[in-house]
Amino acid sequence: MEKRLFLSTPTMHGEEMRFIEEAFDKNWIAPLGFNCDNFEKEMGEFLYNGKTTTHCLALNSGTSALHLAVKLAGVKQGDIVLCSDMTFSATVNPVVYEGGVPVFIDSEKDSWNMDPVALEKAFQKYPQAKVVMLAHLYGTPAKMDEILEICNRHNAILIEDAAEALSAKYKGTECGTFGKYSAISFNGNKIITTSGGGMLLTEDKTARDKAFFWATQSREPYPWYEHKEIGYNYRMSNVVAGIGRGQLLHLEEHRQRKTEIYNRYKKGFEGCPVTMNPYLEDTVPNFWLSCILLDENVKISPIEIMEKLNEHNIETRPLWKPMHMQPVFKNNDFITADGNAVNEDLFARGLCLPSDIKMTPDEQQTVIDLIKSLL
Ligand SMILES: *Cc1c(COP(=O)(O)O)cnc(C)c1O
Repeated sequence: MEKRLFLSTPTMHGEEMRFIEEAFDKNWIAPLGFNCDNFEKEMGEFLYNGKTTTHCLALNSGTSALHLAVKLAGVKQGDIVLCSDMTFSATVNPVVYEGGVPVFIDSEKDSWNMDPVALEKAFQKYPQAKVVMLAHLYGTPAKMDEILEICNRHNAILIEDAAEALSAKYKGTECGTFGKYSAISFNGNKIITTSGGGMLLTEDKTARDKAFFWATQSREPYPWYEHKEIGYNYRMSNVVAGIGRGQLLHLEEHRQRKTEIYNRYKKGFEGCPVTMNPYLEDTVPNFWLSCILLDENVKISPIEIMEKLNEHNIETRPLWKPMHMQPVFKNNDFITADGNAVNEDLFARGLCLPSDIKMTPDEQQTVIDLIKSLL
């Protein structure tokens, strides 16, 4: 490859610049302002299902959104939080910021997300747990009916990390609207980007306003700076919110392009000893990243494939290394359904493939042919 093929990079369209220029023309460069307000409103409209309104808060990262979600859920020093294990560390770090103790839940094989059977087992072991932190891996919806039923039965709050899953649907409902508090990310590699940013999503307007208060340094309504609580500087800037507004116009198109890429891989690898990252019936993933799982009898490892493709200027990467395998979490508990760690197996055999929507079918065919030649 002459130009490098990446997993996922920003794709801009032009409208982004229009919103940015408006911010410059009005000299509205400061955080807060019309682009932030409109971006929140437009995201709320995108997520609206005809029944419940989702209130949005634009922030400087998805991690900030998750941190405020953890605070809203009331996580305190020593509290157990049942967390997705196969995910990016940003899902669980905010639990630790608040002194919570993550207990990691293994994945099922049908969507590679939190296994409801393991989650139920975790509640038996930790009946005091009051918060569940769930991520939808690579834009593939988790088993929401089962997980919500378990959370409700145990009176636990669900926080939904939909950072990778914006525009993915579970039985017709948008990811990001299942959690009492949910988070999305607009980091550079996500399905739409603001260069960096995120949003907190909740049906609870009071909670949204409380999070706004924390995100703007917990400033009390006094003429001077009066503080009764610790605050944060987490708001999104009015300039980058303009990028987000332009990107949101193209979200569905991005999802369609990602879907085509996934389907091309799926077809390309027919008859090969690999399977694609699976998804549930009745769900529409956004296919943020396409991944393969090597069959058990394949001799070459994902790392070796990664190194070989890198020689051809093609980026691939192992799946997220499970949290329970991370040195920083070596003392945290990990719960499986039946003693076999699905995530360790997925990590050993999985590989994320170039899923950039600017990749041409010919370029993708080169990736497919190269991988096939290595199997
Ligand atoms: C990207 C990501 C985040 C963090 O979002 P940032 O905007 O980068 O802070 C959190 N969770 C998951 C699963 C992610 O992929």
